[in-house]
Amino acid sequence: MNRENAWTTYEEADIKALEGLCKEYKDFLSNGKTERECVAQSIELAKKAGYQDLEELIKNQTPLKAGNKVYRTWMEKTIALFQIGEDAIEDGLNILGAHIDSPRLDLKQNPLYEDTEMALLDTHYYGGVKKYQWVTLPMALHGVVVKKDGTKVNICIGEKDEDPVVGITDLLIHLSGKQMQKKGNVIVEGEDLNVLIGSKPLKGEEKEAVKKQLLQLFDEEYGIEEEDFLSAEIEVVPAGKARDFGLDRSMIMSYGQDDRVCAYTSLAAMLNVEAPKRTSCCILVDKEEIGSVGATGMHSRFFENTVAEILALTGDYNDLRLRRTLQNSYMLSSDVSAAFDPNYPSVMEKKNCAYFGKGLVLNKYTGARGKSGSNDANPEYIAQLRKIFDEAKVAFQTAELGKVDEGGGGTIAYIPAAYSMNVIDCGVAVLSMHAPWEIT
Ligand code: MN
Ligand code: MN
Repeated sequence: MNRENAWTTYEEADIKALEGLCKEYKDFLSNGKTERECVAQSIELAKKAGYQDLEELIKNQTPLKAGNKVYRTWMEKTIALFQIGEDAIEDGLNILGAHIDSPRLDLKQNPLYEDTEMALLDTHYYGGVKKYQWVTLPMALHGVVVKKDGTKVNICIGEKDEDPVVGITDLLIHLSGKQMQKKGNVIVEGEDLNVLIGSKPLKGEEKEAVKKQLLQLFDEEYGIEEEDFLSAEIEVVPAGKARDFGLDRSMIMSYGQDDRVCAYTSLAAMLNVEAPKRTSCCILVDKEEIGSVGATGMHSRFFENTVAEILALTGDYNDLRLRRTLQNSYMLSSDVSAAFDPNYPSVMEKKNCAYFGKGLVLNKYTGARGKSGSNDANPEYIAQLRKIFDEAKVAFQTAELGKVDEGGGGTIAYIPAAYSMNVIDCGVAVLSMHAPWEIT
Protein backbone atom coordinates (compact mmCIF):
# COMPACT_ATOMS: atom_id res chain seq x y z
CA MET A 1 0.00 0.00 0.00
CA ASN A 2 3.05 2.27 0.06
CA ARG A 3 2.99 4.74 -2.79
CA GLU A 4 6.19 5.90 -4.43
CA ASN A 5 7.28 9.55 -4.35
CA ALA A 6 6.61 10.82 -7.87
CA TRP A 7 9.86 12.84 -7.99
CA THR A 8 11.85 9.58 -8.01
CA THR A 9 9.96 8.35 -11.08
CA TYR A 10 10.49 11.41 -13.30
CA GLU A 11 12.84 11.40 -16.28
CA GLU A 12 14.49 14.61 -17.46
CA ALA A 13 11.72 15.24 -20.00
CA ASP A 14 9.07 14.88 -17.26
CA ILE A 15 10.85 17.45 -15.10
CA LYS A 16 11.01 19.85 -18.08
CA ALA A 17 7.28 19.42 -18.73
CA LEU A 18 6.56 19.92 -15.03
CA GLU A 19 8.60 23.11 -14.90
CA GLY A 20 6.75 24.44 -17.95
CA LEU A 21 3.35 23.71 -16.41
CA CYS A 22 4.37 25.21 -13.05
CA LYS A 23 5.61 28.40 -14.69
CA GLU A 24 2.25 28.86 -16.41
CA TYR A 25 0.48 27.95 -13.17
CA LYS A 26 2.41 30.60 -11.21
CA ASP A 27 1.48 33.22 -13.84
CA PHE A 28 -2.17 32.16 -13.55
CA LEU A 29 -2.01 32.61 -9.75
CA SER A 30 -0.19 35.96 -9.87
CA ASN A 31 -2.68 37.36 -12.40
CA GLY A 32 -5.78 35.66 -10.99
CA LYS A 33 -6.60 36.67 -7.44
CA THR A 34 -10.36 36.96 -7.90
CA GLU A 35 -12.97 34.80 -9.64
CA ARG A 36 -13.33 37.41 -12.36
CA GLU A 37 -9.58 37.54 -13.00
CA CYS A 38 -9.47 33.72 -13.22
CA VAL A 39 -12.39 33.66 -15.66
CA ALA A 40 -10.79 36.37 -17.81
CA GLN A 41 -7.53 34.42 -17.99
CA SER A 42 -9.41 31.18 -18.75
CA ILE A 43 -11.23 32.83 -21.67
CA GLU A 44 -7.95 34.09 -23.08
CA LEU A 45 -6.31 30.64 -22.84
CA ALA A 46 -9.42 28.93 -24.23
CA LYS A 47 -9.57 31.25 -27.25
CA LYS A 48 -5.90 30.53 -27.97
CA ALA A 49 -6.73 26.82 -27.92
CA GLY A 50 -9.51 27.29 -30.50
CA TYR A 51 -12.54 27.60 -28.20
CA GLN A 52 -15.50 29.70 -29.34
CA ASP A 53 -17.99 31.62 -27.20
CA LEU A 54 -21.11 29.45 -26.94
CA GLU A 55 -23.31 32.59 -26.74
CA GLU A 56 -22.41 33.38 -30.38
CA LEU A 57 -23.36 29.87 -31.48
CA ILE A 58 -26.65 30.05 -29.57
CA LYS A 59 -27.46 33.42 -31.16
CA ASN A 60 -26.78 32.12 -34.68
CA GLN A 61 -28.18 28.63 -34.00
CA THR A 62 -24.89 27.15 -35.30
CA PRO A 63 -25.00 23.35 -34.94
CA LEU A 64 -22.25 21.68 -32.90
CA LYS A 65 -20.44 18.58 -34.11
CA ALA A 66 -17.67 16.27 -32.88
CA GLY A 67 -14.41 18.15 -32.34
CA ASN A 68 -16.05 21.54 -31.75
CA LYS A 69 -14.76 23.50 -28.74
CA VAL A 70 -16.91 26.01 -26.89
CA TYR A 71 -16.92 27.94 -23.62
CA ARG A 72 -19.58 29.86 -21.75
CA THR A 73 -19.25 32.18 -18.77
CA TRP A 74 -21.82 33.50 -16.33
CA MET A 75 -21.65 36.89 -14.60
CA GLU A 76 -17.89 36.85 -15.30
CA LYS A 77 -17.40 34.57 -12.27
CA THR A 78 -17.87 31.02 -13.52
CA ILE A 79 -16.91 29.29 -16.77
CA ALA A 80 -17.75 25.99 -18.46
CA LEU A 81 -15.82 24.57 -21.42
CA PHE A 82 -16.91 21.73 -23.69
CA GLN A 83 -15.31 19.74 -26.46
CA ILE A 84 -17.84 17.66 -28.36
CA GLY A 85 -16.86 13.99 -28.54
CA GLU A 86 -17.53 11.32 -31.15
CA ASP A 87 -19.97 9.38 -28.95
CA ALA A 88 -23.57 10.51 -28.53
CA ILE A 89 -23.72 13.18 -25.83
CA GLU A 90 -26.44 11.20 -24.00
CA ASP A 91 -23.74 8.61 -23.27
CA GLY A 92 -22.47 11.20 -20.78
CA LEU A 93 -19.75 13.76 -20.30
CA ASN A 94 -16.29 13.43 -18.78
CA ILE A 95 -16.19 16.40 -16.42
CA LEU A 96 -13.38 18.17 -14.56
CA GLY A 97 -14.66 20.56 -11.90
CA ALA A 98 -12.93 22.91 -9.46
CA HIS A 99 -13.56 26.26 -7.78
CA ILE A 100 -11.91 29.63 -8.42
CA ASP A 101 -13.04 31.60 -5.35
CA SER A 102 -10.64 31.78 -2.39
CA PRO A 103 -10.85 33.02 1.20
CA ARG A 104 -10.22 36.76 1.50
CA LEU A 105 -11.58 40.01 2.94
CA ASP A 106 -14.39 41.71 1.00
CA LEU A 107 -15.06 45.44 1.35
CA LYS A 108 -18.39 46.24 2.95
CA GLN A 109 -20.91 48.21 0.88
CA ASN A 110 -20.25 51.33 2.94
CA PRO A 111 -16.57 50.76 3.68
CA LEU A 112 -14.78 54.11 3.88
CA TYR A 113 -14.37 56.02 7.15
CA GLU A 114 -11.96 58.28 8.95
CA ASP A 115 -10.81 57.84 12.55
CA THR A 116 -8.21 60.08 14.23
CA GLU A 117 -7.01 61.38 10.87
CA MET A 118 -6.52 57.94 9.39
CA ALA A 119 -8.70 56.53 6.60
CA LEU A 120 -9.79 52.90 6.72
CA LEU A 121 -11.90 50.43 4.75
CA ASP A 122 -14.27 48.17 6.65
CA THR A 123 -14.38 44.52 5.52
CA HIS A 124 -16.38 41.33 5.94
CA TYR A 125 -14.26 38.20 5.60
CA TYR A 126 -15.20 35.60 2.95
CA GLY A 127 -14.78 31.89 3.66
CA GLY A 128 -13.15 30.20 6.62
CA VAL A 129 -10.12 32.14 7.86
CA LYS A 130 -7.97 32.29 10.97
CA LYS A 131 -8.41 36.06 11.28
CA TYR A 132 -5.16 36.62 13.17
CA GLN A 133 -3.24 35.44 10.05
CA TRP A 134 -4.48 38.37 7.94
CA VAL A 135 -2.87 41.28 9.82
CA THR A 136 0.52 42.97 9.21
CA LEU A 137 0.72 41.72 5.61
CA PRO A 138 1.07 43.77 2.43
CA MET A 139 -2.39 43.60 0.86
CA ALA A 140 -3.79 44.51 -2.57
CA LEU A 141 -7.24 45.62 -3.69
CA HIS A 142 -8.77 43.73 -6.63
CA GLY A 143 -12.24 43.99 -8.08
CA VAL A 144 -14.81 46.00 -9.93
CA VAL A 145 -16.86 49.11 -9.28
CA VAL A 146 -20.02 49.36 -11.38
CA LYS A 147 -21.38 52.88 -11.80
CA LYS A 148 -25.07 53.73 -12.13
CA ASP A 149 -24.73 54.13 -15.89
CA GLY A 150 -23.45 50.55 -16.11
CA THR A 151 -19.80 51.37 -16.76
CA LYS A 152 -17.47 48.98 -14.99
CA VAL A 153 -14.18 50.13 -13.50
CA ASN A 154 -11.55 47.44 -12.90
CA ILE A 155 -9.49 47.94 -9.76
CA CYS A 156 -6.08 46.35 -9.13
CA ILE A 157 -3.85 48.21 -6.67
CA GLY A 158 -0.83 46.73 -4.94
CA GLU A 159 0.59 44.24 -7.44
CA LYS A 160 3.01 46.29 -9.55
CA ASP A 161 6.44 47.05 -8.06
CA GLU A 162 5.68 50.76 -8.05
CA ASP A 163 2.16 50.35 -6.54
CA PRO A 164 1.45 51.20 -2.92
CA VAL A 165 0.10 48.40 -0.73
CA VAL A 166 -2.48 48.55 2.07
CA GLY A 167 -3.05 46.36 5.11
CA ILE A 168 -4.33 45.70 8.60
CA THR A 169 -2.33 46.67 11.66
CA ASP A 170 -1.83 44.51 14.76
CA LEU A 171 -1.32 45.45 18.38
CA LEU A 172 2.32 45.77 19.42
CA ILE A 173 3.56 42.93 21.66
CA HIS A 174 4.44 45.47 24.38
CA LEU A 175 0.76 46.20 24.97
CA SER A 176 -0.67 42.76 24.13
CA GLY A 177 -0.85 41.30 27.63
CA LYS A 178 -4.66 41.02 27.54
CA GLN A 179 -4.84 40.11 23.84
CA MET A 180 -2.46 37.18 24.26
CA GLN A 181 -4.73 35.65 26.93
CA LYS A 182 -7.62 35.43 24.44
CA LYS A 183 -8.70 32.33 22.55
CA GLY A 184 -7.41 32.03 18.98
CA ASN A 185 -10.76 32.80 17.36
CA VAL A 186 -11.04 36.19 19.11
CA ILE A 187 -7.39 37.36 19.20
CA VAL A 188 -8.33 39.37 16.11
CA GLU A 189 -12.08 39.75 15.63
CA GLY A 190 -13.95 40.03 12.33
CA GLU A 191 -15.14 43.57 12.94
CA ASP A 192 -11.55 44.67 13.57
CA LEU A 193 -10.29 43.64 10.11
CA ASN A 194 -10.12 47.26 8.94
CA VAL A 195 -7.73 48.12 6.15
CA LEU A 196 -5.60 51.24 6.63
CA ILE A 197 -5.43 53.16 3.34
CA GLY A 198 -4.37 56.75 4.12
CA SER A 199 -3.24 59.39 6.60
CA LYS A 200 -2.75 62.59 4.58
CA PRO A 201 -5.39 65.34 5.00
CA LEU A 202 -6.66 67.43 2.11
CA LYS A 203 -5.44 71.02 2.56
CA GLY A 204 -8.04 73.55 3.55
CA GLU A 205 -10.56 70.95 4.80
CA GLU A 206 -11.54 70.81 8.45
CA LYS A 207 -13.78 67.75 8.72
CA GLU A 208 -12.69 64.28 7.54
CA ALA A 209 -9.88 65.78 5.51
CA VAL A 210 -8.04 62.45 5.05
CA LYS A 211 -11.16 60.73 3.74
CA LYS A 212 -11.80 63.71 1.43
CA GLN A 213 -8.26 63.51 0.11
CA LEU A 214 -8.80 59.82 -0.75
CA LEU A 215 -12.16 60.52 -2.37
CA GLN A 216 -10.43 63.09 -4.55
CA LEU A 217 -7.85 60.44 -5.48
CA PHE A 218 -10.61 57.89 -6.35
CA ASP A 219 -12.26 60.48 -8.55
CA GLU A 220 -9.04 61.44 -10.34
CA GLU A 221 -7.70 57.91 -10.85
CA TYR A 222 -10.89 55.94 -11.40
CA GLY A 223 -13.73 58.41 -11.90
CA ILE A 224 -15.65 56.93 -8.97
CA GLU A 225 -17.40 58.60 -6.06
CA GLU A 226 -18.15 57.29 -2.57
CA GLU A 227 -21.68 56.09 -3.43
CA ASP A 228 -20.23 53.86 -6.17
CA PHE A 229 -18.96 51.51 -3.42
CA LEU A 230 -22.64 50.50 -3.06
CA SER A 231 -22.33 48.55 -6.34
CA ALA A 232 -18.78 47.24 -6.12
CA GLU A 233 -17.04 43.96 -5.45
CA ILE A 234 -13.58 44.70 -4.09
CA GLU A 235 -11.53 41.92 -2.56
CA VAL A 236 -8.61 42.54 -0.21
CA VAL A 237 -5.99 39.87 -0.91
CA PRO A 238 -2.30 39.33 -0.10
CA ALA A 239 -0.14 41.45 -2.43
CA GLY A 240 2.61 39.75 -4.39
CA LYS A 241 3.36 37.00 -6.84
CA ALA A 242 3.38 33.22 -6.64
CA ARG A 243 6.93 31.98 -6.18
CA ASP A 244 9.08 28.90 -5.81
CA PHE A 245 9.28 27.59 -2.25
CA GLY A 246 12.09 25.54 -0.72
CA LEU A 247 15.80 25.73 -1.45
CA ASP A 248 15.29 22.90 -3.95
CA ARG A 249 12.38 24.79 -5.56
CA SER A 250 10.17 21.71 -5.14
CA MET A 251 7.13 23.64 -3.91
CA ILE A 252 5.09 26.74 -4.76
CA MET A 253 3.95 29.42 -2.33
CA SER A 254 1.06 31.65 -3.30
CA TYR A 255 -2.23 33.17 -2.27
CA GLY A 256 -5.33 31.33 -3.54
CA GLN A 257 -4.00 27.86 -4.31
CA ASP A 258 -7.25 26.52 -2.77
CA ASP A 259 -8.56 25.82 -5.29
CA ARG A 260 -6.75 27.39 -8.22
CA VAL A 261 -4.19 24.59 -8.15
CA CYS A 262 -7.02 22.27 -9.20
CA ALA A 263 -8.75 24.85 -11.40
CA TYR A 264 -5.64 25.64 -13.42
CA THR A 265 -4.62 22.01 -13.86
CA SER A 266 -8.18 21.06 -14.87
CA LEU A 267 -8.21 23.89 -17.41
CA ALA A 268 -4.76 22.93 -18.74
CA ALA A 269 -5.89 19.31 -19.13
CA MET A 270 -9.07 20.41 -20.90
CA LEU A 271 -7.18 22.64 -23.33
CA ASN A 272 -4.80 19.77 -24.14
CA VAL A 273 -7.54 17.27 -25.01
CA GLU A 274 -7.89 16.62 -28.74
CA ALA A 275 -10.72 14.71 -30.43
CA PRO A 276 -12.11 12.94 -27.34
CA LYS A 277 -14.41 9.93 -27.66
CA ARG A 278 -16.76 11.18 -24.95
CA THR A 279 -17.69 14.85 -24.77
CA SER A 280 -15.23 16.60 -22.41
CA CYS A 281 -16.21 19.34 -20.02
CA CYS A 282 -14.39 21.55 -17.55
CA ILE A 283 -16.32 23.71 -15.11
CA LEU A 284 -14.72 26.30 -12.83
CA VAL A 285 -17.15 27.67 -10.27
CA ASP A 286 -17.46 30.47 -7.74
CA LYS A 287 -18.78 30.56 -4.13
CA GLU A 288 -17.48 27.13 -2.98
CA GLU A 289 -15.96 28.68 0.12
CA ILE A 290 -19.37 29.91 1.29
CA GLY A 291 -21.47 26.87 0.36
CA SER A 292 -21.59 26.90 -3.47
CA VAL A 293 -24.60 29.21 -3.32
CA GLY A 294 -25.76 32.00 -5.63
CA ALA A 295 -26.04 32.32 -9.41
CA THR A 296 -22.38 31.48 -9.98
CA GLY A 297 -21.91 28.69 -7.41
CA MET A 298 -22.19 24.96 -8.20
CA HIS A 299 -25.78 24.91 -6.86
CA SER A 300 -26.82 27.34 -9.62
CA ARG A 301 -28.63 26.01 -12.71
CA PHE A 302 -25.88 27.48 -14.92
CA PHE A 303 -24.21 24.11 -15.55
CA GLU A 304 -27.49 22.28 -16.29
CA ASN A 305 -28.71 25.15 -18.48
CA THR A 306 -25.48 25.17 -20.45
CA VAL A 307 -25.61 21.39 -21.04
CA ALA A 308 -29.18 21.95 -22.27
CA GLU A 309 -27.93 24.59 -24.73
CA ILE A 310 -25.22 22.17 -25.94
CA LEU A 311 -27.86 19.47 -26.49
CA ALA A 312 -30.02 21.91 -28.42
CA LEU A 313 -27.13 22.59 -30.79
CA THR A 314 -26.26 18.91 -31.27
CA GLY A 315 -29.74 17.66 -32.20
CA ASP A 316 -33.13 17.92 -30.55
CA TYR A 317 -33.29 19.22 -27.03
CA ASN A 318 -35.59 17.36 -24.73
CA ASP A 319 -35.72 16.87 -20.99
CA LEU A 320 -35.05 13.14 -21.10
CA ARG A 321 -31.94 13.65 -23.22
CA LEU A 322 -30.66 16.20 -20.69
CA ARG A 323 -31.29 13.88 -17.73
CA ARG A 324 -29.56 10.98 -19.50
CA THR A 325 -26.56 13.12 -20.39
CA LEU A 326 -26.12 14.20 -16.79
CA GLN A 327 -26.69 10.83 -15.13
CA ASN A 328 -24.30 9.04 -17.53
CA SER A 329 -21.49 11.50 -16.82
CA TYR A 330 -18.28 10.94 -14.89
CA MET A 331 -16.63 13.67 -12.87
CA LEU A 332 -13.33 14.36 -11.17
CA SER A 333 -14.34 17.05 -8.70
CA SER A 334 -11.05 18.48 -7.60
CA ASP A 335 -10.31 20.51 -4.52
CA VAL A 336 -7.24 20.74 -2.31
CA SER A 337 -6.46 18.14 0.36
CA ALA A 338 -4.72 18.80 3.67
CA ALA A 339 -1.09 17.70 3.33
CA PHE A 340 0.63 15.96 6.23
CA ASP A 341 2.49 18.62 8.24
CA PRO A 342 5.42 17.41 10.39
CA ASN A 343 4.70 20.35 12.74
CA TYR A 344 1.17 19.12 13.41
CA PRO A 345 1.17 15.32 13.14
CA SER A 346 -1.49 14.78 15.81
CA VAL A 347 -4.47 15.73 13.59
CA MET A 348 -3.60 13.17 10.90
CA GLU A 349 -3.98 9.42 10.65
CA LYS A 350 -0.79 8.49 8.84
CA LYS A 351 -2.13 5.62 6.72
CA ASN A 352 -4.96 7.73 5.35
CA CYS A 353 -3.63 11.21 4.79
CA ALA A 354 -2.12 13.10 1.86
CA TYR A 355 1.61 13.69 1.39
CA PHE A 356 3.59 16.06 -0.81
CA GLY A 357 5.15 14.38 -3.83
CA LYS A 358 2.81 11.41 -3.95
CA GLY A 359 0.49 12.62 -6.66
CA LEU A 360 -3.18 13.37 -7.10
CA VAL A 361 -5.15 12.74 -3.90
CA LEU A 362 -8.33 10.69 -4.26
CA ASN A 363 -10.83 11.26 -1.46
CA LYS A 364 -13.55 8.61 -1.54
CA TYR A 365 -15.42 10.81 0.89
CA THR A 366 -15.05 14.14 2.71
CA GLY A 367 -17.50 15.51 5.28
CA ALA A 368 -17.44 15.74 9.07
CA ARG A 369 -18.88 13.84 12.05
CA GLY A 370 -19.56 10.49 10.36
CA LYS A 371 -18.98 11.59 6.75
CA SER A 372 -21.90 14.02 7.00
CA GLY A 373 -22.38 16.09 3.86
CA SER A 374 -20.07 13.91 1.79
CA ASN A 375 -20.33 12.54 -1.72
CA ASP A 376 -19.17 8.97 -1.04
CA ALA A 377 -17.73 7.77 -4.38
CA ASN A 378 -18.69 4.30 -5.59
CA PRO A 379 -15.96 1.62 -5.51
CA GLU A 380 -16.98 0.56 -9.03
CA TYR A 381 -15.98 4.04 -10.22
CA ILE A 382 -12.79 4.12 -8.13
CA ALA A 383 -11.75 0.77 -9.63
CA GLN A 384 -12.05 2.22 -13.14
CA LEU A 385 -9.97 5.24 -12.14
CA ARG A 386 -7.24 3.10 -10.50
CA LYS A 387 -6.96 1.13 -13.71
CA ILE A 388 -6.74 4.24 -15.90
CA PHE A 389 -4.19 5.93 -13.63
CA ASP A 390 -1.99 2.83 -13.24
CA GLU A 391 -1.98 2.14 -16.98
CA ALA A 392 -1.08 5.77 -17.75
CA LYS A 393 1.48 5.86 -14.90
CA VAL A 394 -0.34 8.68 -13.11
CA ALA A 395 0.84 9.07 -9.51
CA PHE A 396 -2.05 9.06 -7.06
CA GLN A 397 -2.68 8.55 -3.36
CA THR A 398 -5.78 8.25 -1.20
CA ALA A 399 -6.61 10.32 1.87
CA GLU A 400 -9.12 11.71 4.32
CA LEU A 401 -9.10 15.24 5.69
CA GLY A 402 -7.50 14.52 9.07
CA LYS A 403 -8.42 12.05 11.80
CA VAL A 404 -12.01 10.94 12.38
CA ASP A 405 -13.85 13.65 14.36
CA GLU A 406 -10.85 16.02 14.21
CA GLY A 407 -12.78 18.45 11.98
CA GLY A 408 -13.68 18.15 8.32
CA GLY A 409 -14.75 20.01 5.23
CA GLY A 410 -16.86 19.94 2.09
CA THR A 411 -16.47 20.50 -1.63
CA ILE A 412 -18.70 20.82 -4.72
CA ALA A 413 -18.74 17.03 -5.37
CA TYR A 414 -22.11 16.22 -3.80
CA ILE A 415 -23.92 18.80 -5.94
CA PRO A 416 -23.37 17.33 -9.45
CA ALA A 417 -23.67 13.86 -7.85
CA ALA A 418 -27.34 14.76 -7.28
CA TYR A 419 -27.85 14.20 -11.04
CA SER A 420 -26.96 10.54 -10.27
CA MET A 421 -23.61 10.74 -12.06
CA ASN A 422 -20.35 9.19 -10.84
CA VAL A 423 -18.33 11.80 -8.96
CA ILE A 424 -15.18 11.51 -6.88
CA ASP A 425 -13.39 14.12 -4.80
CA CYS A 426 -9.73 14.48 -5.68
CA GLY A 427 -7.09 17.17 -5.73
CA VAL A 428 -3.67 18.46 -4.79
CA ALA A 429 -2.21 18.37 -1.27
CA VAL A 430 -1.62 21.80 0.29
CA LEU A 431 0.05 23.08 3.47
CA SER A 432 -1.29 26.10 5.40
CA MET A 433 -4.67 25.79 3.67
CA HIS A 434 -6.77 29.01 3.83
CA ALA A 435 -3.78 31.01 5.12
CA PRO A 436 -2.83 34.13 3.13
CA TRP A 437 0.11 32.19 1.65
CA GLU A 438 -0.51 28.50 0.91
CA ILE A 439 2.07 25.90 -0.14
CA THR A 440 1.68 23.12 -2.71
MN1 MN B 1 -11.40 24.34 -1.84
MN1 MN C 1 -11.30 26.04 0.86
